[in-house]
Amino acid sequence: MKDCLFCKIVAGEIPSTKVYEDEKVYAFLDIDPKAPFHAIVIPKEHITSAAEISSDNSSLIAAVFEAIAKIAKNENLEKGFRVVNNCGEEGGQTVGHIHFHLLARRNLGWPPG
Ligand code: 5GP
Ligand code: ZN
Repeated sequence: MKDCLFCKIVAGEIPSTKVYEDEKVYAFLDIDPKAPFHAIVIPKEHITSAAEISSDNSSLIAAVFEAIAKIAKNENLEKGFRVVNNCGEEGGQTVGHIHFHLLARRNLGWPPG
């Protein structure tokens, strides 16, 4: 989608540090990490937010979670990790292309602050 930051990252128009890529999914390091390992995992196809998931596009979300399991193995995150999705204004979403934060390599605590 035109004028979408993460679509531009997928297209290579904005540089990123890739940690994983397949046909449907792209993952890259967050520019402002909140944990020693902080990747952003996205479907390559534009979906605005979790509020837009439907039976038409949910296979892309399944692909994101399959990718997350592979990244966790590749990055040796056997001690655990957290997946976070911020949705909409009150959910704290700042980029309007659905994305899943993959956070690891510190004790993340619960409930989150
Ligand atoms: P949100 O706040 O929407 O859940 O998450 C957006 C995330 O994207 C933030 O953690 C932010 O640091 C990250 N981010 C924003 N712009 C860029 C960018 O240009 N490159 C990278 N690698 N991450 C970005
Ligand atoms: Zn997009």
